[in-house]
Amino acid sequence: MRRVVIGFFVFMSIFAFRQQNIMANDQPELTPTERMNFYLRYADELVPWYYLAAIDQYERNIQQVRNDIEKHGGPLALHFSDEDWAGALNPLPQDNTVEAIAYFGGIGMDGDGDGIADKTNPDDVLYTLHTLLSAHGVSEDDFKMALEQIYEKEATVNQILAIATLYSRFETIELDEHRFPIPKGYNYTYRGTWGASRGWGGRRIHEGTDIFAGYGTPVMSASYGVIEVMGWNNYGGWRIGIRDNHNTYHYYAHLAYFNKDLKQGDVVEPGTVIGSVGSSGYGKEGTSGKFPPHLHYGVYKYNGRTEWAFDPYPALRLWERQDRQK
Ligand SMILES: [Zn+2]
Repeated sequence: MRRVVIGFFVFMSIFAFRQQNIMANDQPELTPTERMNFYLRYADELVPWYYLAAIDQYERNIQQVRNDIEKHGGPLALHFSDEDWAGALNPLPQDNTVEAIAYFGGIGMDGDGDGIADKTNPDDVLYTLHTLLSAHGVSEDDFKMALEQIYEKEATVNQILAIATLYSRFETIELDEHRFPIPKGYNYTYRGTWGASRGWGGRRIHEGTDIFAGYGTPVMSASYGVIEVMGWNNYGGWRIGIRDNHNTYHYYAHLAYFNKDLKQGDVVEPGTVIGSVGSSGYGKEGTSGKFPPHLHYGVYKYNGRTEWAFDPYPALRLWERQDRQK
């Protein structure tokens, strides 16, 4: 019975984390280690730390690229709306009384045992999130179902699942390392041609950087990520799309070959060889040689609503320089 009641509250909360009435907060940013310790404090066999951490990281990612939502310091980026927290029918939107919130169907709970459910207290927020997630069950499918109810958007659910997968696999939230996608020792050239009308095959229009190199030159993943797409596309030819832990989708196109050991859903890290440079694309499956061989590399950022392309050239220059110093 208790489970059914909690399930109902979870259902009520689908009005979501997204429409948030957020208050400013001056708490300092924590180090990754401090943040990790915070997640671990509220994790258990029902809700592993990487589920809590993935949702929080997703919220942090969208706060960085959205002007309409407040940025949060402190241990948690995640914040609930007044309606979700105190209950939609609660006459006191700022209510922090545990009993009253429960009565009005709010989700807010008291995590640190001070007797009040304070939506600006990270302990109370994380404990509440734990309760929402554990109400569904412990499997990965249950986690996915909980995310679907909370966020209602497939793209958001997939992004959070990708982050959780990466955190779980590497057992850390520090996955910020990058590599230039062509290994040292191979010849290549590229220019900052963002916005140029000419180019060979982007994902939609020419959104990305063309790195020219010989046929068969290895192509490496620039980031940590989960392979979201792998196959043929009429413009991009043989292409791979990889989603990282910063809501960024990395797109590698015109490959000659894929790394045969990889498939959709697999995890890669910076430097994992994903295929080799080719000139596939601009036609039906198998079309090749309509332009000089090159890697088309594009990056797209997801902000919780849409995904847009940004110029990868500055990042490529940085990663190239860092790789040379190694
Ligand atoms: Zn291109």
